[in-house]
Amino acid sequence: MKRIVIKFGGTSVGSIEKIINAAKIVKRRHEEGNEVIVVVSAMSGTTNDLINKSKKISEDFSKSELDVLMSSGEQISSSLLAGAIIKLGIKARSWLGWQIPILTNNIHASSQIMQIKTDEIVNFISRKGVAVIAGFQGITEKNRITTLGRGGSDLSAVAIAKFFQTESCDIYTDVDGVQTTDPSINEKAKKIDKISYEEMLEMSSLGAKVMQPSAVQTAMKNNIPVHVRSTFSEKHGTKIVSENDIEDKNIITGITYSKKNAKVSIVGVVDKPGVAADVFEPIGENNINIDMVIQNTSLDGKNANITFTIKQEDLKKTLSIIEKNKKKIDYKKVTHDDKLAKISIIGAGMIASPGVTHKMFRSLADEKINILAISTSEIKISVLIREELTQKAVKTLHNTFGLN
Ligand code: ADP
Ligand code: ASP
Ligand code: MG
Repeated sequence: MKRIVIKFGGTSVGSIEKIINAAKIVKRRHEEGNEVIVVVSAMSGTTNDLINKSKKISEDFSKSELDVLMSSGEQISSSLLAGAIIKLGIKARSWLGWQIPILTNNIHASSQIMQIKTDEIVNFISRKGVAVIAGFQGITEKNRITTLGRGGSDLSAVAIAKFFQTESCDIYTDVDGVQTTDPSINEKAKKIDKISYEEMLEMSSLGAKVMQPSAVQTAMKNNIPVHVRSTFSEKHGTKIVSENDIEDKNIITGITYSKKNAKVSIVGVVDKPGVAADVFEPIGENNINIDMVIQNTSLDGKNANITFTIKQEDLKKTLSIIEKNKKKIDYKKVTHDDKLAKISIIGAGMIASPGVTHKMFRSLADEKINILAISTSEIKISVLIREELTQKAVKTLHNTFGLN
């Protein structure tokens, strides 16, 4: 008998009809003779609605209370799905994170899973029951409810695969698998049959929402093969596996984008050691993540401009931090732009293939897309462009790198 974990995302349980459909998939997997643990997200839209409610009370709503609020969406979907499975004649029961418990650290809204107690659920599934676990949530040692970051039920599923030592981890979602780019902005996107953990980690960190980055990281660390597949068809999806299991390495595997980036330039900074640290230290202390950084020096070497990118939502706070530090940093002026997108090309084969960089830049230039910043790693190149050009850039690069 195989033990498996199957996870349904929000769109897969977005209505009562879809919940009944998901229950039928569970029934089929159970009847194949598997011990089945199901992980479920909140019905699509629910988590956003809950967050919006909290914002009506305060933009700075208590983080620990926000976790209690956000995690409630999964309570609804897990009970509905367990009920739908029972209605199909199969023994089932729901578990919330705290009932298991799924122990996390105490970082609200982006906790990590430390431990999962397994005995009660193992006992239940070994007696032909289907366990339905609410994704996205856990509890700290001090009994506070936590959540795992947006998209975090992917992480719940992978961590459950780890702690219950399941033979597989299937992520059921609303697309056929991981695609060469987001199919919702490019109809030419193609399903990728197999992708390495490393490439998937880059893709999800750089905007491919189909898998949460922490989930990919946990899968990679524990060598858990993940199968991303469609809830609405029986087709084979995408296997996320170790690099050694991939025969042909593509130069470019996928194109991603992330919107809502902002850029800040501090102009005319006195160029001396420690100035970059003076700029970034207070920003970091406020838990604001700096992404790309560019520094250029004036011809006489006396002044520098420091440009960096952050999330749009952090712009206001960042500008006020810089303003507060004016005495210490000593700059001429600050400019900013908050409607920018980051477009990235990802591929493990690019290391061995010179010319990728200029091919990318040329293809954007041919479309009159201006590049505002660049960052690279061994397996990715990212550029910053105006947000309204996102779709055009993605489509162009998808074509240029032969992914159409
Ligand atoms: P779920 O509700 O199942 O968790 P998500 O909305 O979190 O689903 O993720 C699936 C969505 O991710 C797809 O509908 C698709 O629009 C988006 N997406 C972005 N990039 C990609 C990609 N490279 N491959 C597949 N889907 C992608
Ligand atoms: N419901 C949560 C969210 O919207 C978790 C998830 O969907 O995986 O982020
Ligand atoms: Mg998701």
